[in-house]
Amino acid sequence: MSIQRHVTVERVRLKFAAAHMATLGDELEPLHGHNYLVRCRVEGDLTEDRWVIDFSALKGYTRAVCDELDHHFLLQRDSPLLDIEERDASWGVRFGDREYAFPKSDVVALPIANTTAELLAEYIAERVVASLRDGGHGNIQAIHVDVEEMPGQSGGYARTFD
Ligand SMILES: [Zn+2]
Repeated sequence: MSIQRHVTVERVRLKFAAAHMATLGDELEPLHGHNYLVRCRVEGDLTEDRWVIDFSALKGYTRAVCDELDHHFLLQRDSPLLDIEERDASWGVRFGDREYAFPKSDVVALPIANTTAELLAEYIAERVVASLRDGGHGNIQAIHVDVEEMPGQSGGYARTFD
């Protein structure tokens, strides 16, 4: 028998509204946005007081990342397809004959290759993992994050801690 305990947080302000343009094949989507919803689950042993983690701690870690992304353009800084130029006050993005200049204050430049829900989930999960480490939650052994772009359509990422 193997026992696995987990805690899930979702809904309570674990969301963000953001614009993006993902690439698909060798195409670039039009600029558009989503009201993203985030669900975060961690697995781990019970602490001495029989928690996996305090709900409010996990909500806080997850919400902090959501708040950073909220009301921004999400730029896939590591895209192999977009021609991206970091200027003093803006990000220049070129794709074929389409050219954009986004004021830096409107942009979160993410270290990911594409702004798919799967990679946004990975980015959020790894940020939460860093907070779990800093917070001393040594009993946590795995994380799962789902990012829902629209109802019934989400991408996810999960990993164990070694
Ligand atoms: Zn989209």
